[in-house]
Amino acid sequence: MSFTQKILIAMAAGIVVGVTFSVVGAPLQAVSDVLVDGLLDAVGRIFVLLLQMMVVPLVLVSIVCGVASLGGLGALGRVGVKTIGLFLVTTAIALVIALTLAILVSPGEGFALAGDVDYRTQTPPPLSDVFVDMFPANPVRALADGQMLQIIVFALLLGFAINLSGESGRRVGAVFSDLNEVVMKLVTIVIRTAPVGVFALVATTFAAQGLDLFRPLAGYALILVLGLLLHGGLTYTLVLRLARLSPIGFFNKMRAVLTFAFSTASSGATLPLTLGTVKRRLGVDNSVASFSVPLGATINMDGTAIMLGVATVFISNVYGIDLSVGDYLAVVLTATLASIGTAAVPGAGLIMIALVLGQVGLPVEGIALIIGIDRLLDMLRTAVNVCGDGAVACLVARSEGALNLATFNDPGATLDTVARPATAEATQ
Ligand code: ASP
Repeated sequence: MSFTQKILIAMAAGIVVGVTFSVVGAPLQAVSDVLVDGLLDAVGRIFVLLLQMMVVPLVLVSIVCGVASLGGLGALGRVGVKTIGLFLVTTAIALVIALTLAILVSPGEGFALAGDVDYRTQTPPPLSDVFVDMFPANPVRALADGQMLQIIVFALLLGFAINLSGESGRRVGAVFSDLNEVVMKLVTIVIRTAPVGVFALVATTFAAQGLDLFRPLAGYALILVLGLLLHGGLTYTLVLRLARLSPIGFFNKMRAVLTFAFSTASSGATLPLTLGTVKRRLGVDNSVASFSVPLGATINMDGTAIMLGVATVFISNVYGIDLSVGDYLAVVLTATLASIGTAAVPGAGLIMIALVLGQVGLPVEGIALIIGIDRLLDMLRTAVNVCGDGAVACLVARSEGALNLATFNDPGATLDTVARPATAEATQ
């Protein structure tokens, strides 16, 4: 049985076990206390901690290696502009899809507001802070706190300095390159435990989330799911077609990554597997992958943008407040920025709705309406978030001659496959 099959089976089994506990309820309470809230909860949390444990060393080491091998500012500038440009364009497309669907179907019209809704506002960070905060005063603190954008900036600069330091730089670069291999090995070791971790995470989530909560919000949930599937299926297929790559091959290899994102609801925790898959199974060279994938996990959140768009229209319908064309444009702009500022952890997107609602004058308490079902929808939007990172990395790498086609097309390429360089004939 392949690794992906094992993970998919673990996920399906987790859903069945979780839903069973949630539906049966009281008669199974004693078993549920020990098994779900005790054992499975602990296993799931340990699994996520192990994934998070690898993120900081992996991002630091692989970006330093990537930049050191890029050869100069020009190449990095090109990769940076292409990557960020594609992140913005795909996020804007995601919002157009979300708003079009939500406006056509109007979820939330006739929704009965049951009494007062109570939501304590959490203030989202001002966007200017997001940019200033990218620069670390103290790189050690940035590493210790897991400040991803600060780590990316520090690693980029360190990689440059290594590149410009002649013989000493070559020696330090060689150490980082060895470290890179070792950290990737650690990733493959932890990932081997994934079927157990995924089962535990999915079972505990589904046991805790009563599916009845969905009934009154079916319209909102359906439009959101449809938007996520359309964007995931169509937009990324288009991105891969632009790269002259097979979307089917891409999605087949990304299946395990998507399942991980689904079960952890965290792009950050999924990052080690996303990066490993993009490099070793899809054949993207480290010079592009090491930069695009961690940056994508931090700022590229198309699934979150779709949620922000649909939630805004839903809340405006519930409160009977009409939005003008100008308001919709403001939603596209603010939601794109808000998705950039969203942290790569479960539920982070929900906080950012306040920003979008405030921008178009909608009541922030509206968030309370959708909190109850957000965790399950978060799982799906996180899968879309990481899928976008992989697709963009493939397109950027292809345009830079940094994608090994033989690896991309090799169904047998695994995380253990030694990264092959992108040779001229392999990228044809
Ligand atoms: N959970 C999402 C992620 O990690 C962020 C969000 O809440 O939208 O990608």
